[in-house]
Amino acid sequence: MGLRIELDESKCSGLGLCEAEAPELFEVNDDGSLSVLDATPSGDRRAECEAAVAACPTEALRLVES
Ligand code: SF4
Repeated sequence: MGLRIELDESKCSGLGLCEAEAPELFEVNDDGSLSVLDATPSGDRRAECEAAVAACPTEALRLVES
């Protein structure tokens, strides 16, 4: 079973708290938009993914089992 990160761009405010938790998975761009660097991370990144989702103050991120 894999993981998938879903980003609701309309909720993201570009604060980068997710990037602070998981810098290999998220990157805030110069224009304040967020790039998900790996939307289907391997299972050994679950803890990082969960920390990033929990850190997001606007609930813009969701972790889906796929
Ligand atoms: S923590 Fe949430 S609001 Fe902030 S950049 Fe990440 S997804 Fe966007």
